[in-house]
Amino acid sequence: MLRGAPLFLLIIIHSLVPLTGAQSSKPNPARAWWKHIEYLASDELTGRETGSEGHRKAAQYIAAAFKRAGLKPAGTEGYFQPVKFISRKIVEEQSSLAIIRTPKGGSIGKEESIVLGEEATFSMGIEHAPRTEAPIVFVGYGLTVPENNYDDLAGLDLRGKVVLLLSGGPSEIPGPLRAHYQNTRWEALKRAGVIGVITIQNPIGQDIPWERSKLARLRAALSLAEPGLEENAGQQLAVTFNPAKAEKLFTDSGHSFAEIMKFAEAGKPLPRFRVPAVVRASVKFEKQIVESQNVAGILEGTESKLANEYVVLSAHLDHVGKGEPINGDSIYNGAMDNASGVATLIEAARVFGEKKQRFRRSVVFLAVTAEEHGLKGSRFYATHPTVPAANIAANINIDMFLPLFPFRSFIVQGLEESNLAEDLQRVAKSIGVEVLSDPEPERRAFVRSDQYSFIRQGVPAISLKVGFAKDSPEHDIVKRWRKERYHAPSDDLQQPIDFEAAAKFNAAYLKVVEAVANRGERPRWNSSSFFKRFARVNPRNGR
Ligand SMILES: [Zn+2]
Repeated sequence: MLRGAPLFLLIIIHSLVPLTGAQSSKPNPARAWWKHIEYLASDELTGRETGSEGHRKAAQYIAAAFKRAGLKPAGTEGYFQPVKFISRKIVEEQSSLAIIRTPKGGSIGKEESIVLGEEATFSMGIEHAPRTEAPIVFVGYGLTVPENNYDDLAGLDLRGKVVLLLSGGPSEIPGPLRAHYQNTRWEALKRAGVIGVITIQNPIGQDIPWERSKLARLRAALSLAEPGLEENAGQQLAVTFNPAKAEKLFTDSGHSFAEIMKFAEAGKPLPRFRVPAVVRASVKFEKQIVESQNVAGILEGTESKLANEYVVLSAHLDHVGKGEPINGDSIYNGAMDNASGVATLIEAARVFGEKKQRFRRSVVFLAVTAEEHGLKGSRFYATHPTVPAANIAANINIDMFLPLFPFRSFIVQGLEESNLAEDLQRVAKSIGVEVLSDPEPERRAFVRSDQYSFIRQGVPAISLKVGFAKDSPEHDIVKRWRKERYHAPSDDLQQPIDFEAAAKFNAAYLKVVEAVANRGERPRWNSSSFFKRFARVNPRNGR
């Protein structure tokens, strides 16, 4: 899953007792699935970083599995669809960040440098200007949401300014809208004349502690090389600020970060004001072109009328590679994130192949690259599909479905948005599990994995996980997993997995695929769904 933002507490507790299949006396009911993970998340593949040798090996493994299963190649080069990226990597020792106080009527103060890593990091997904010096304006959440008549930018002169904002949004804006406009925030900021953004990570609903997330700052960030797909064109500065150090940004502004967080905790809109300071940044980075692969295969449909419609099953194959060691381990294996989802995809292809099972619609099996760099591989596929774009009828995504406790329910991201919910409900009923909405909408999960790339092209989509109720003991297990293992080297083969849950989830997944690929009518967005707007792109999904 795509990384959210950090917590400011450093809590790394290694108290989970490993209990793997090897130690259990019962045979592993998800053995075939686990075998794929054992390879994909092995140290040999060094964390499957996009563009790396480990990623290439993983892609080849998946292509070979698709071939064995009898899928037809559906890439542009056999099973592969190569994707080009611009890679940018900070040269931190030649970069700097500082603020200079500019009190009213007073003289310009002296430069106060910001400690990179401890206090802030440069986000390398944009083309930073070598130097930026500009006044700072605090714009609350920095959101413009026309549907709700909500505009954090209204009445502010932002031309040539760097805005300071808190990630997140007020509770008056419904979850999906809040999520979407956070993702596309730059559009409105750019229109307002903003040149750069300092984002304070909102400690509410964040997965990774700052102490851990800061370690990722020295890694290369990737953008799609195709200029039309560059989302933040024109932005010349992107800084992420540690919330535990953010108070200093509000000195002499008449406001404090503590006060801002009180509003945020109450779900309220935030005050907006000029900060009496200028930001001065100097950014040096290394840049190169990187190529990586999506992997795609097709199981052709059987019914003449429906076979030219496609259900895309997606799972990202990349992870974050090697990085700063934690407890002496520098390989971020990504066993759950997302070797587990790829293994589910491969196993589905194998089982359908062995049973010679086919469906009325065609099914595309798609393992995508560069999810961890901002859903880039799926964005490329969704905008350059290897089947006719207008004929993609649905997307079912699997990312880190976390079989850590018994499978008694599905969490379905996107449940409220389209009538794919009907298929889910039917399958769940038939196997005696419940269907739950996302219990943590504040995590924005519906727009944080690859289904979002399809949603933006008008395709009704869902993402599936092993379910848990809010504030249940299972929820605690998930929260602890995120804190300790999510995007850490310990998301590896030595972690407690509920193999029974994995096996049941995988079986349920087959039924969901079958239901969607065989349903009579093409899936539709609900008329109440915010995401229906994207059906403009692909009108056949919006009726
Ligand atoms: Zn991830």
